[in-house]
Amino acid sequence: MQFSGRRKKLIGNFQNDLYDQCLQFYGQPPLENISLTEFETFAVERLKLLKTVENVGVSCVKNSEQYTKKLDAEISSLNFPHRGGISEYEKRRKDHISHFILRLAYCQTEDLRRWFIQQEMDLFRYRFNCLHSKHKTDFLHKNNLKYETVSAEEKKNLKDKLIASSYGLSGTKVEEHDVYKVPFQDALDLVRTRKVYLLAGNAYIPHHEIVTIVLNDFRTRLSKALAMTARSLPAVQSDERLQPLLSHLSHAYVGQDYSIQKNIGKISLEQIDALSGKSFPLCMRHLHKALRENHHLRHGGRMQYGLFLKGIGLTLEQALQFWRSEFVKGKVDADKFDKAYAYSVRHMFGKEGKRTDYTPYSCMKVILSNPPSQGDYHGCPFRHSDPELLKQKLQNYKVSPSGINQVCPTTSTHLTRFSTVCVKGFLKLNLVEDAGFSLNHPNQYFTESQKFLSGGRDIKKEVDMSQRSQENPASVTHPSQANSKQAHEEMGDLDSFFQDE
Ligand code: SF4
Repeated sequence: MQFSGRRKKLIGNFQNDLYDQCLQFYGQPPLENISLTEFETFAVERLKLLKTVENVGVSCVKNSEQYTKKLDAEISSLNFPHRGGISEYEKRRKDHISHFILRLAYCQTEDLRRWFIQQEMDLFRYRFNCLHSKHKTDFLHKNNLKYETVSAEEKKNLKDKLIASSYGLSGTKVEEHDVYKVPFQDALDLVRTRKVYLLAGNAYIPHHEIVTIVLNDFRTRLSKALAMTARSLPAVQSDERLQPLLSHLSHAYVGQDYSIQKNIGKISLEQIDALSGKSFPLCMRHLHKALRENHHLRHGGRMQYGLFLKGIGLTLEQALQFWRSEFVKGKVDADKFDKAYAYSVRHMFGKEGKRTDYTPYSCMKVILSNPPSQGDYHGCPFRHSDPELLKQKLQNYKVSPSGINQVCPTTSTHLTRFSTVCVKGFLKLNLVEDAGFSLNHPNQYFTESQKFLSGGRDIKKEVDMSQRSQENPASVTHPSQANSKQAHEEMGDLDSFFQDE
């Protein structure tokens, strides 16, 4: 008893010490016990935070005034440490624990690791830049980030050179603040942008630019830590309570929920051809075209496209009519359709089997799961199509040659890249400069396109997209251990109804 009491006290002191600043270097893993519910809630909330960072980074130039303002506004509405509030113990604790939970989920593949590191670095830079100069110095000391400071004597000798070669440095600042001396290879970003003075292989970093060096350090440590976490993952995954949650988290979508059909019945079947040309993202256009040409889609395509159509407002009756009328033009007669396929359409609308209301697929799900094989038309063309084929598709959709070059992805396999090029496609198709949104979901593309086509007016009159917003916690896709397992089973269940004979 005495031992556990002492241990509790030690942990308590350790935690208080750990959370005395709003910014963390995440050097020490959390030691306390938390419930599975808290584990799950923290994970989802941090994922939302990182997605927010990603979205703002895509829609504004990073580190610009607009970027900082937007991030400021967005982060202040999330329940995480923000601009060093004083009574923020719980928020800091959540920040710490949730970071380590996502390490477990995002250490699994190279793509996931890269995404996680990028968002964590952007978040760190934003938070560090928000700190007061004195708190920055405290942070460096507390985390043992001992960069060599230039002596007063040397500063005096180099004063003019430092002012001439450093961005935003005045004589008073040189005297009042520390200047750090680091090997130039640790400050390549600053050297590249000619923001620092170089001498004998060292870069002289003014105090206000130290974030670049700290960030390098942060990236190196985080990437090492992720590699180590990946090695210990088999042990963590053997815990059957955590395994489904962790594997679901890396694919989780935390944006708007498009499964609620407030706009149900507001689209007629006659509109679909025109809408596919105007407002469908490439993946859905491709599926629609293949369906019209072949009068058939294999199960992966029917799942992806069927749920998308449901999300934009097709009723069950319309969906049955849509799929039946197309399939009977091919090799399937009406009788066979009713026996082999109608059940699966009703199932998708939650009218059969377990009566689950299935959610349209997010980009993440389309990109990461069930890659298409020969004869399939589902997936994300920016991820799964051969570059030449993608060019041809874009030519068919009347995108100009210069537009095609901008839209076609490079060799990068970064997940964000695909939705970014998809938005570029949106810009090219609509001949606009700035989309003003970052893409996470094909149904979001549709909504934004309709909004754009209606001249920025609220499109709810024409297509009243479901609005179960992120603010409503009940609406968030919540990857509970039980839910994810159930969802997996249910999807498997649904898949089986969609299998081709
Ligand atoms: Fe579809 Fe998303 Fe790929 Fe665009 S990025 S084509 S919306 S999956």
